[in-house]
Amino acid sequence: MLNTRYSGNAYEHFFLPHLSSDQVKDIPKEKALAVLHIGAVEQHGKHLPTFTDTLIGEGLLAKTFEKFTREDNIWLLPSIPYGKSTEHLYHSGTFSLSALTLQNILMDLGKSTANNGFRRLLILNTHGGNNDLLNMMARDIRVETGLMVFRLNPYSEKTKTLITEEEAEYGIHGGDVETSMVLDFKKNWVDMNLAAKDFFNFPENKTSLNLKGNRYFAWMAEDISKTGIAGDARKATMEKGKEINENISDFMAETFLEMADFEIDDLKK
Ligand SMILES: [Zn+2]
Repeated sequence: MLNTRYSGNAYEHFFLPHLSSDQVKDIPKEKALAVLHIGAVEQHGKHLPTFTDTLIGEGLLAKTFEKFTREDNIWLLPSIPYGKSTEHLYHSGTFSLSALTLQNILMDLGKSTANNGFRRLLILNTHGGNNDLLNMMARDIRVETGLMVFRLNPYSEKTKTLITEEEAEYGIHGGDVETSMVLDFKKNWVDMNLAAKDFFNFPENKTSLNLKGNRYFAWMAEDISKTGIAGDARKATMEKGKEINENISDFMAETFLEMADFEIDDLKK
């Protein structure tokens, strides 16, 4: 039901399009932060919904905004539910934007943010495949509009203490972490009977090559996984998800406040 999705502090008090045009105009913009979340609709194995990344982002935002008051002046835009999911294109349930389409959407919304008088835009990302493009676009939006633009991937160092070392290093998709997070947000959207374990197999003499970092190789989901996931989803629990979501939303709240207070012009003094 719509009324449960758009409830809580985030939507009652901080959802920018909840306001009227005049109310948006009247926001003091000097220290305000506009938050634009982007997720993905893509395969996440047999046990998770394809909406996983967007669902996680919206869930984390709902928790994060519980920690704010109006004086914090942080404003939530509607999420972009689709992302760049080219690595999952050959799986059913994946609905991807091309790089060019996503660039245009981000630039248009960046320009709108600036036209509304905001000075700061945060692009909050909950899908790894968006990352490279978002970093590029954050700079391009800054160049084009003069906005201060931030890109944040929600993360907590504390998650590592709740999962195995192997999971922390290679559990990048639909594994213990994401499955636990979704169990906390929407338990009935997960089928734990179908949860699998699937870690990709690096040849021992080539361990310096990686899916991310300096020695990178381009990959598709089917290059690294038989099941579509990377990690051990069987280890996931709702309790763990609750703790992970709590820790990450603390990190997000802290970071949002820092961004709202950031002045890029102070850097060169
Ligand atoms: Zn995901």
